[in-house]
Amino acid sequence: MTDQFGREINYARISVTDRCNLRCRYCMPECGVKKISHAEILSLEEILRVAEIFSRLGIRKIRLTGGEPLLRKNLPTLVRALKNLSGIEQVTLTTNGVLLKNFSAELIAAGLDGINLSLDTLDEKIFSELTRRKLFGNVLEGLQTVLGARLSLKINCVPLRGVNDGEILRLASWTEKNFIKVRFIELMPIGCAWSSGLRGIPTAEIFSTLEKNFGALVPVREKNSLQGPAKYFRPKNFVGQIGFIDALEHKFCGECNRIRLTAEGFLKTCLSFDAGLDVKKILRAGDGDEEIAEKIRDAIYRKPREHFFSGTTNFQMYQVGG
Ligand code: SAM
Ligand code: SF4
Repeated sequence: MTDQFGREINYARISVTDRCNLRCRYCMPECGVKKISHAEILSLEEILRVAEIFSRLGIRKIRLTGGEPLLRKNLPTLVRALKNLSGIEQVTLTTNGVLLKNFSAELIAAGLDGINLSLDTLDEKIFSELTRRKLFGNVLEGLQTVLGARLSLKINCVPLRGVNDGEILRLASWTEKNFIKVRFIELMPIGCAWSSGLRGIPTAEIFSTLEKNFGALVPVREKNSLQGPAKYFRPKNFVGQIGFIDALEHKFCGECNRIRLTAEGFLKTCLSFDAGLDVKKILRAGDGDEEIAEKIRDAIYRKPREHFFSGTTNFQMYQVGG
């Protein structure tokens, strides 16, 4: 379906939990998050029902996220069920990778199309400082289990001044011999990122560092209406791609194709506003699928034109899944 500004909305990010086994300084407070009772979180059946309604409204891609989605029980079962929905062409996962080795085989067997692995550093010490957990080895083991698997693999890195600057070339150079995408995402001033004192590094600066080291970055043009906001490039003779998500300097709101569903069942139609719909409430009030679809259609239609990142949302990144 299209919204009031004529944008085709075909991509839903579904958060399955807001708990996490890491405490990344720019995302989550050290003490973790307020515990939400199991009953307040959408059940897998409810998620599936909403996803089926989404698919009728034109959603073609679903990304499961969190918190850390692999903490949610029976995630491979959900992946398999989502893959069986008619109209859903892609089901992908964003994960920190800590539990990946335990589930990668099941997820691949369930038909998962892609994994975005968040990895800001290849240095164990920086990893522990940034995530406040000593779990770097688990992430590397998890990564090994999906390198070379038949799914799309993207590594996401948030460059932070004075923290992982030195890691940018190391991460990007993985794309020389591996058919993966390494993406650099600008730090967004949401939630803990405000108070952490951390500062992001602008995309233009990273771009120029990479060009100085690898030579010209050649744009890769992809004609895929399900593609997100990343712009991809490839240095000469590299097999993988390097992507940039330039959320601050160059807004991509004009091309935004996405909606987000929080683990508590709130449909959020823009990252930086609280606009949307309490889907859990209408699901549990006993509304029929047609009524729910109408309300969701109306909420999507009213999706805000653009984000501002100026304290306009009360949601945290671990609630909306990135
Ligand atoms: N726990 C999973 C993970 O880390 O991949 C999924 C949820 S996490 C919120 C999704 C993505 O959001 C991660 O890649 C993380 O780096 C990114 N993220 C969190 N806070 C951010 C911020 N303030 N600015 C930019 N990206 C952020
Ligand atoms: Fe957890 Fe992901 Fe947030 Fe890090 S970025 S604290 S892994 S939800």
